[in-house]
Amino acid sequence: MNNFSRQWVNLCNGSFLNAQISFIFDIPNFINMIDDILKKEQLTKPDILRLLECTVEEENRLFEKSALIREENVGNKVYLRGLVEVSNVCSKNCFYCGIRSGNRKVNRYTISESEVLSAVEFAYSQGFGSLVFQSGEHSGNVFTNYIGNLLRGAMDISKGELGITLSCGEQSLDVYRFWKELGARRYLLRIEASNQDLYEKLHPLDEKHSYYKRLQSLSNLRIAGYQVGTGIMIGLPFQTLENLADDLIFMQSQDIDMVGMGPYILHRDTPLYEYRHFVPPLKDRINLSLKMIAVLRILMKDINIASTTALSAIDPRGKILGLKAGANVIMPNITPSRYTSNYNLYDNKPFVDIYSNTSRLQFEEEIHEAGFSMGYGEWGDSPHFSKRMDQ
Ligand code: SF4
Repeated sequence: MNNFSRQWVNLCNGSFLNAQISFIFDIPNFINMIDDILKKEQLTKPDILRLLECTVEEENRLFEKSALIREENVGNKVYLRGLVEVSNVCSKNCFYCGIRSGNRKVNRYTISESEVLSAVEFAYSQGFGSLVFQSGEHSGNVFTNYIGNLLRGAMDISKGELGITLSCGEQSLDVYRFWKELGARRYLLRIEASNQDLYEKLHPLDEKHSYYKRLQSLSNLRIAGYQVGTGIMIGLPFQTLENLADDLIFMQSQDIDMVGMGPYILHRDTPLYEYRHFVPPLKDRINLSLKMIAVLRILMKDINIASTTALSAIDPRGKILGLKAGANVIMPNITPSRYTSNYNLYDNKPFVDIYSNTSRLQFEEEIHEAGFSMGYGEWGDSPHFSKRMDQ
């Protein structure tokens, strides 16, 4: 039995579906309760749990409320973050991830600085106000300087107009500060599961994958002055509704500025795939992800929330459904297409060719038809961050 199996073998009684907390109400009280909760200024953990397990009939009221809060606090614009997956080299071995170091089937790449900067030029010329440089996690001077050069190049191309988000894993405070000084504005570091037990079941139990190091890194990002983003996966094997409620409370307690969370999607070349029978059906994962977005919008009214690619991997309308549930950011992939098939964090990752005029127009049309406008040429920073800085 391998380490991973040993960590999981005793958990098979705690599956997500079986562990949902049950509420028993008579019908009239049941209906009133949702409305009462949605009128509250502060939600308790039982309120959050109740919203996460609301019925199909009640969902509309939840989504109407979160859409209203979105409109009032962050407006109806959708902000774009052009995503460049600059390198799939990773020193870590997270059990759920398709590009983990232990997966020998992956063709590893690091895109040359000039090729990344061509993508930056394209995005800037198309009116993107912000970009994300994302990579697997690795450290050392070569990598630090590579990201540093990309930041310098993007700042030169746009004369400082592009807002850059980094998503390059856990680094030292000095490295975070170095990149911040070169122009990075935001940093996304997903906690993936805020419950320590669950976190440790998703990662090897070693120093490199320490839960505490992840918390420290989130704290260091704040010290370095970034807009800090985190996120989780929804519908993991053995995850409970209570875990998800705690994830939302964790984001609130960390006073996070932006969140990217979406359904867990399996990758067949990962250890977690072995536990696929404990993963809720696709439909339930997307539904729960939308409820998580809606409840988060109610809890944290003025943060940025991404409608993630993983939502679209399950449902072609996923991106729009996420926006309607309360998200206000999308991250079109602008990685040169010859690399994208090697950045498969999960199976069936969707790809819209944003370099094609037709796809781009179709993408815009979908956003407009759903009643949103495009935040072209704007950073679209989270109002939450500005308020935090003013305090
Ligand atoms: S989740 Fe991130 S850190 Fe973990 S293996 Fe994948 S790319 Fe590396």
